[in-house]
Amino acid sequence: MSAVNEPSFRESVELMFDRAVELMDLPDGLKEKIRVVNATYTVRFGVRLRGEVKTFTGYRSVHSEHMEPVKGGIRYAIGVNQDEVEALAALMTYKCALVETPFGGSKGGLRIDPREYEVHELEAITRRFAYELAKRDLINPSQNVPAPDMGTGEREMAWIADQYARMNTTDINAKACVTGKPIHAGGIAGRVEATGRGVQYALREFFRHPEDKAAAGLGGTLSGKRVIVQGLGNVGYHAAKFLSGEDKSVITGIIERDGALVSDAGLDVDAVRDWVGEYGGVKGYPDATFVEDGSVVLEKDCDILIPAALEGVINLSNAARIKAPLIIEAANGPVTAGADEVLRERGCVIIPDMYANAGGVTVSYFEWVKNLSHIRFGRMQRRQEEARHQLVVDELERLDKYLGDAWSMTPDFKEKYLRGADELELVRSGLDDTMRAAYQSMREVWHSRDDVKDLRTAAFIVAISRVARSYEAKGI
Ligand code: NAD
Repeated sequence: MSAVNEPSFRESVELMFDRAVELMDLPDGLKEKIRVVNATYTVRFGVRLRGEVKTFTGYRSVHSEHMEPVKGGIRYAIGVNQDEVEALAALMTYKCALVETPFGGSKGGLRIDPREYEVHELEAITRRFAYELAKRDLINPSQNVPAPDMGTGEREMAWIADQYARMNTTDINAKACVTGKPIHAGGIAGRVEATGRGVQYALREFFRHPEDKAAAGLGGTLSGKRVIVQGLGNVGYHAAKFLSGEDKSVITGIIERDGALVSDAGLDVDAVRDWVGEYGGVKGYPDATFVEDGSVVLEKDCDILIPAALEGVINLSNAARIKAPLIIEAANGPVTAGADEVLRERGCVIIPDMYANAGGVTVSYFEWVKNLSHIRFGRMQRRQEEARHQLVVDELERLDKYLGDAWSMTPDFKEKYLRGADELELVRSGLDDTMRAAYQSMREVWHSRDDVKDLRTAAFIVAISRVARSYEAKGI
């Protein structure tokens, strides 16, 4: 994927870490402790499929246990390897620290192309993989809590939760062993779209700061901004849908496996998603121009580029041709360390992965807390809140009678004000607050230090200092 002579994804993450840590006043030994991956478990297991035993290789890597449980998704992809899983586990450590979720970093992967298997086969494979990890406490509500990533979703998380529960029949907190589950299997409202929603909240926050917009040469709001998205999966689809539907951005390009669609007038994200669901790719979709070599669309003129598929797609071979003034890394590691430098020199602002896609782990945190507390958010206070609001509305209505036509409530005020927050609203509010606070912590470092030139370095500095404080407090 990356150009020749370019560092691997893992080396890229380490280079970025080194660049930040050089600017920090930490003992060398502690820097090294934070940088290294604590442990990686490789498992090879067999599953009987189609009359023969098929062997699969999987990984679970734990980067840092300064807080437990450790947290990170499980990816199903044919390219999964130890280096990739370790790089992703490291990113999880920094991501969790940046958005203040009380977890260490971990990641898992299974080398498989899920599209080659029937659902019942995937279930057998997933259950066996979960069994192998759970029996070593690499899935455990208090030690290691996976979540969805590329190639996995709610369905796989439900199988994993059930497998763990079967192996731990008396564990009352069994459901908290994995997040990203469907609602009826212990999930939380708003988790499926959380990462894409987080990308939207991150962009909204960016556009609240005139100085930051100016750094990218942009102005105004998200409305009318031309956006190109790579990968119309969980993250890319939701980000594109919310940005176009709610913020009135224009999706001028969608890049998928088989090529890309472009339209200056804007693409209908749901219609494209339905097309991909039906035909397996974007080719043939009406109302847009199809471009066979999708990667060239990354280089097309736009205001915001959202790589939301895989790592290393913006590398030394194409960085100089990328025109977007603002890139938000919805995927993990889409910009290599080399490309990052080229783009920064050109004044392109990059909102880094560790922050941009942290919406998933944030809502996973809420789900984990919900599972441990065994109660839906809002269940105790919602009606009480409504009753208190009713008191205010009754009082206003009483005043209304005296003031006559001179004063009245706006027509939908009563309905909006009376409604107590349900779980989804609480989740969105918690996510929005988290994304705003994390952005502000990054931008403060970015703007207050002359030696910090970009958001990624700032994000690493915030995250590393929090991890360092945690290790120092524990006294390793
Ligand atoms: P997904 O499997 O739902 O979607 C990936 C999409 O990318 C699919 O539509 C796939 O067809 C497309 N794709 C694959 N190869 C491509 C290529 N070469 N060119 C263009 N498109 C291609 O995965 P996802 O969960 O949306 O994850 C995407 C990225 O976001 C990954 O880097 C993942 O680590 C990261 N991420 C995901 C979550 C989450 O909650 N799911 C959270 C944080 C980060």
